[in-house]
This record gives sequence, C-alpha cells and structure tokens, in this order.
Amino acid sequence: MEERLDSARFRYINQQLYTRPSHEAVRLFQEDPEAFAVYHRGFAQQVARWPENPVLRFVRYLRNRPASLVVADFGCGDCTLARSIRNKVHCFDVMALDSRVTVCDMSQVPLEAASVDVVVFCLALMGTNLCEILEEANRVLRVGGTLLVAEVASRFGDLRAFLGALAGLGFRLVSKDVSGSHFYAMELQKESPPRNPGGARTGKTAAGLALLPCLYKRR
Ligand code: SAH
Repeated sequence: MEERLDSARFRYINQQLYTRPSHEAVRLFQEDPEAFAVYHRGFAQQVARWPENPVLRFVRYLRNRPASLVVADFGCGDCTLARSIRNKVHCFDVMALDSRVTVCDMSQVPLEAASVDVVVFCLALMGTNLCEILEEANRVLRVGGTLLVAEVASRFGDLRAFLGALAGLGFRLVSKDVSGSHFYAMELQKESPPRNPGGARTGKTAAGLALLPCLYKRR
C-alpha cells in the first residue's frame, strides 16, 4: 500500500516538474523536502529497470576525454557523475542528496560566463522554460565546449525541430544516438552565444524547443 502511494506521489511530483517553470521546482521541494526523497526513490526505481542508465554512458564518455575538462552537471541528482570521474564537476540541483551539490535553480547557476568545458543534462531538462535553461548552459560554456543531453525518448515529439532550436541557441549537433528504446543521447558543441540573446525573456522562445512531459508508467 505504502509503495503504491509513493508511486502515485512520484508520478504527481514528476508531472509538476515537467509542467511548471524550473524556479517553481525549487519552491516545491523546499516547502516539502519529503517530496524530494519520494521523487528520487521513484526516479531511481524507474531507471534501474532500463537496459542502460544514461548517466553511465556519460561517465564512459568523459573517462575517454581529458580529466582536466571542467564539467557542470545540471540536475545532478545523487552526483553519480561527479563520483565516477576525476574531473572537477560543479553539481547543481534543487536539493542536496550529496555534499557536492550546490542548491540552485538550473536556469541560474552560480558560475562565471565561459567557465566550463562540458555541460551535462542527464534526464534533467525539466521545466517549461527550457529556452532560459539552455541559454544558461550556453552562458557558462566556453566556445567550443560540449553540451551532453540525455532524455526519455518519448519526450521528443519532433527531434528535428528540437535540434533546430538548439542550433538557434548556439549549439551544433556533433552526434546523436536515437537507437535506444528508453532514452536518446546527444552531443552538441557550443559554437556561439544564442542568435537571439535573451530570447526567453523577450518571449521569443526558440520554436521547436518544447519537449513533451515524461509521464512515467503506473507501476
Ligand atoms: N542527472 C541525474 C538525476 C536526474 S533526475 C541522473 O541522471 O541520475 C532529474 C534531476 O533534476 C533531479 O535530481 C531534480 O531534482 C533535478 N531538477 C529538477 N528541476 C530542477 C531545477 N529547476 N534546478 C535544478 N535541478 C533540478
């Protein structure tokens, strides 16, 4: 019974995260810290059933690149990435499951402009203000830096439109793997600042950026 309640709560919280602006996530969890524990238990149970955990793919990718690269993990969860590689990793989340975490909203992270080599969003592109969040990723990345994105496959209603919007935000596609049944993974490179800086604030949200909410199945 308790498990079913947890499962229903997880799905409810998850839906809130996908259908509200990202800064509301901070408030949601600060007002109800237990919700964060429920959310993370539910998330871990879902991903454990997948054939591959996307964060481990990014661990492999980064282990094959210089350990001197500075990484920012937006929506880092339990910091699996930071714990698994030698690189300096800035870990951001709305609550701290680990002492490495800096608590903040991912649309406004406390990093200098052009201060990191790699930004990671592993199952973390939540919130309705994706344009603002990706502009923030662009701000902290140096030109030539890498953006790694893994998202639930069913969220991509129109992958081409999504990638087109990312191009408008200054990110060029380097490679993508859309062969997985559960998630898509992609590597992009920051070529320039967004073409339309402040697009999120002026309401000119990059068309096509929208991702469908990921509504996990009832268990
Ligand atoms: N990247 C981790 C966790 C993914 S779960 C992994 O792959 O294991 C998504 C994470 O994003 C959660 O930890 C959630 O708390 C975080 N998150 C959601 N909205 C956020 C926001 N506005 N700012 C920062 N983190 C956020």
